[in-house]
Amino acid sequence: MINSIYEQAGLRPDVLAYCRNIEKDLEKRFKAIDEVAEYNQMKVLLAMQKNKVSAGCFESSTGYGYDDLGRDTLEQVYADIFHTEDALVRPHITCGTHALAIALSGNLRPQDELLSPAGKPYDTLEGVIGIRKQTGSLAEYGVTYRQVDLRPDGSFDYENIKKAINEKTKLVTIQRSKGYQTRPTFSVKQIGELIAFVKSIKPDVICMVDNCYGEFVETIEPTDVGADMCVGSLIKNPGGGLAPIGGYIVGRKDCVQRAAYRLTAPGLGKELGASLSMNRPFFQGLFLSPTVTAGALKGAVFAANVYEKLGFDVVPNGKESRHDIIQAVVLESADRVIQFCKGIQAAAPVDSFVDPEPWAMPGYDCDVIMAAGAFVSGSSIELSADAPIKPPYAVYFQGGLTWPHARFGIMMSLEKLVEKGLAVLPSL
Ligand SMILES: *Cc1c(COP(=O)(O)O)cnc(C)c1O
Repeated sequence: MINSIYEQAGLRPDVLAYCRNIEKDLEKRFKAIDEVAEYNQMKVLLAMQKNKVSAGCFESSTGYGYDDLGRDTLEQVYADIFHTEDALVRPHITCGTHALAIALSGNLRPQDELLSPAGKPYDTLEGVIGIRKQTGSLAEYGVTYRQVDLRPDGSFDYENIKKAINEKTKLVTIQRSKGYQTRPTFSVKQIGELIAFVKSIKPDVICMVDNCYGEFVETIEPTDVGADMCVGSLIKNPGGGLAPIGGYIVGRKDCVQRAAYRLTAPGLGKELGASLSMNRPFFQGLFLSPTVTAGALKGAVFAANVYEKLGFDVVPNGKESRHDIIQAVVLESADRVIQFCKGIQAAAPVDSFVDPEPWAMPGYDCDVIMAAGAFVSGSSIELSADAPIKPPYAVYFQGGLTWPHARFGIMMSLEKLVEKGLAVLPSL
């Protein structure tokens, strides 16, 4: 029966058989992913119970939003999950970049220096910091920036990090996920080691982690290993696919408060900010997040193994342990990248009839193709893929609200490649 519905969906039997065979070998990996989800589900549940989440928390506030029980309880739940003193979780935070921007600009002052000890940060932060000239950047406010690149093997360059820390260094930013780079994603343990090293040189420096795509992939978070602040987007892992907008900052009370003064206004901070009707989806999405993240992770591991065994380079590889939900597949040609994305799009619940095309997206130096058929626009916890059309022709794949859907998306991507003669299945 299952085969016939896949055939009805347009998958040829040999693609299905090949993928089924790959999946058989992943049982152990999947079991380990389920165990992390089991732990994190309990962590979230206990935080909700401890804070007495009730039907009243789903009421919405308007206007100034004073005394918003749901909003304040949600923030306490986040603080408990991340084991921090405080949290800021708001629909007014537009996206991950915005959350990072207020965490940075709230906590840095003119003459301070920002240090990135793990190489170049995410593209959109270049404008925020002023690495790239940008009106309103931290550079315009007199905040200087220093960066220490990773060593060629992807490890931290401790010697040069030590040299880079000086009397001006106020805040250190560490990006957990590789994002759209080819370096490895850092484990929480590695991040803890880096933070300990930085603090051994300068104890009062604020260590901030860009946690995007990393939430609930492990049983601990960067705030469990010394991070003063952890920042992320609710249209990625912690929104569980239900949050239609939003971002979060968790951490030390003074750090979160300074960020809140930047989000609203000095003196107002967390007291204001109507939740509108976001409290319910934020709670419910957070509740689902551990298992949603597990589904996306299984999809990433499955994709790595499906494409690795066809001879393509995949980052991370099929066996490596995971610290975020992103999978890169190096497809070596523009045609393959385009067909891969068409397959992901064709598998979507929304806009499956749309054909993605490469286009000259602002801010990129080449055409980019994106596949996304998401309930929430731009949500990348939902099944999505994107790729710059340039060598090495790598496609970045992430998300899937359920493991069956992630699996189908990957099978469809391969179906499109096989249809066009761009991939050859090994004989079983
Ligand atoms: C997604 C992401 C961001 C923020 O991106 P937005 O599109 O602004 O939400 C920042 N850093 C990393 C590593 C990310 O993956």
